[in-house]
Amino acid sequence: MAIDPKRIREKMVQEQIAARGINDQQVLRAMRSVPRHLFVDEALQAQGYEDHPLPIGHGQTISQPYIVALMSSILDVKPGMKILEIGTGSGYQAAVLAEMGADVFTVERVKPLYLKARKLFSELRYHYIKTKLDDGTTGWPEKSPFDRILVTAGGPEIPQPLVEQLTDPGMLVIPVGDTKRHQKLIKLTLINGDIKKEDMGSVAFVDLVGKFGW
Ligand code: SAH
Repeated sequence: MAIDPKRIREKMVQEQIAARGINDQQVLRAMRSVPRHLFVDEALQAQGYEDHPLPIGHGQTISQPYIVALMSSILDVKPGMKILEIGTGSGYQAAVLAEMGADVFTVERVKPLYLKARKLFSELRYHYIKTKLDDGTTGWPEKSPFDRILVTAGGPEIPQPLVEQLTDPGMLVIPVGDTKRHQKLIKLTLINGDIKKEDMGSVAFVDLVGKFGW
């Protein structure tokens, strides 16, 4: 990149995230430090910090920076929390959660994306992010329970196995919608055995494909 990525990241954080009301310092700090441009193909690196999603191949996308910040702040992450992400994609969201001090487990169903993200995690020294190639709608039972579960693809319903793999208290954030590419971002909280669901707004994610997805 011809331009200084650190400065562009600062601009991204100020103009796209802080200016839209996200003031969670832990999120802003993480997004200042993860080199987002390295999570996209070289030809797209100059657009890496723009205010929109970008293609990562195989019909998938890396989410818009604001959406990553929004979901990361909704999750209310405390250092040391175990977080399961469904939909590794480029690996960017997982890296942001890792920078926030979480113990991250991430599942991807598309093999080339899984392999690429693993390689990048190793190059960028995110050795502690655990990855798995699988249908994430069934969760990661052997590693459960998780304090937080984040699904970064949109399905028709909340996969029951994910709810069952939460700690109590725990939280699941997932885009849900009965039409493809248009969802409501649902925040599900589990407290003392009670489930509460909140609509956090409209979003547009790629499809969650699998046993409990499309
Ligand atoms: N979090 C990603 C963006 C993901 S795009 C990032 O930061 O770049 C959504 C991803 O979810 C795609 O890579 C898609 O292949 C994956 N996906 C869709 N259904 C899935 C499933 N059932 N299990 C695991 N991954 C899935």
